[in-house]
Amino acid sequence: MHPFTYVRAESLPSALDSARTEDTMFLAGGTELLNWARIGIESPSHLVDIGRLPRLHEITSTGDGLHIGALARLNDVAQDPRVETSYPVLSQSILRAASAQLRNLATIGGNPVQRTRCPYFRSNGPVACNKRVPGSGCAALHGANERLAIFGWTEDCVAVQPSDPAVALACLDAEIITEHVDGGRRIPATEFHTLPAEDPSAHNVLRPSELITGIEIGAPAPKSAYVKVRERQSYEFALVSAAAVVEVQDGVISRARLALGSVALRPWRLYDAEQALVGLRPGSPEVMDAVTSGFSASRPLSSNAYKIPLARNTALRALELALEAG
Ligand SMILES: Cc1cc2nc3c(=O)[nH]c(=O)nc-3n(C[C@H](O)[C@H](O)[C@H](O)COP(=O)(O)OP(=O)(O)OC[C@H]3O[C@@H](n4cnc5c(N)ncnc54)[C@H](O)[C@@H]3O)c2cc1C
Repeated sequence: MHPFTYVRAESLPSALDSARTEDTMFLAGGTELLNWARIGIESPSHLVDIGRLPRLHEITSTGDGLHIGALARLNDVAQDPRVETSYPVLSQSILRAASAQLRNLATIGGNPVQRTRCPYFRSNGPVACNKRVPGSGCAALHGANERLAIFGWTEDCVAVQPSDPAVALACLDAEIITEHVDGGRRIPATEFHTLPAEDPSAHNVLRPSELITGIEIGAPAPKSAYVKVRERQSYEFALVSAAAVVEVQDGVISRARLALGSVALRPWRLYDAEQALVGLRPGSPEVMDAVTSGFSASRPLSSNAYKIPLARNTALRALELALEAG
């Protein structure tokens, strides 16, 4: 492992100040970062441990919404009564992520920063991967791509973003709040991850040394649900997943939000389907057609055509569960 220096930050200003040097990374729960250092995905020369920053573990009510501190542990977020009741899609997405042990350590701020599980990106040896070595190509394009993208890929990268909570946050139109020595900002969760057409070597829009301080969610979404399809029932990343948030008035759908996970390098909102669902009666035959209309941009790779009907059915199931909820 590459040698690095370590400092534990005691305050937000000192964390930002310590991160001014080149090659610095923040350490939160450490469940991802230490693996990257071991495999050689990242070799930071300086680690700023943010794990003890005051107040960033807190979950606070804000008007009709919720502010979740970036250092809140995944299990603490999932089991918060306000999240369980008002945002079941988020609670369910977290409880289907990783294992209980990991969720006790991993933070909600570190989770969306996790990187693709593409086998070529995670490879120990040298391999063509534009994310590992920009300009080296994409071995997955004609290689082992069964689990990879069906939306938003280019010949430069066909990987997918594996986070479960990120799918729920995109579906809830959450915002990611950051701080940086040059000023903070609010990033829509739908725009946090970068697509390969923008830059195949990038992962997200964070600037170097930009710190996530929290996540904000708006009005409660009690009629919501998350469905994760995976090869075994626990401790496994998704083949596909879907989040659904709905509102019903006078017996018809008045608003719908649908997002897919593990189908692209960012949670994939099905905006066309969301529009087509408005005005439909839950359970009517047109609902399937409306969901299908969200897939016009889907494109399979050589070995993953199965993911298109799987994702469509997963989205439909999440929608049905959301309609039954609340
Ligand atoms: C075996 C295994 C299985 C897993 N399965 C799943 C799964 O099924 N679903 C799922 O969603 N996830 C899964 N994960 C991912 C896991 O949820 C993440 O590892 C975890 O959420 C990362 O949080 P952390 O606090 O440990 O981040 P760290 O490891 O500390 O950091 C990860 C990255 O985020 C950056 N970072 C952390 N906090 C901040 C911040 N506040 N601001 C800016 N940058 C920050 C770090 O600099 C680093 O780049 C799995 C992980 C493992 C190891």
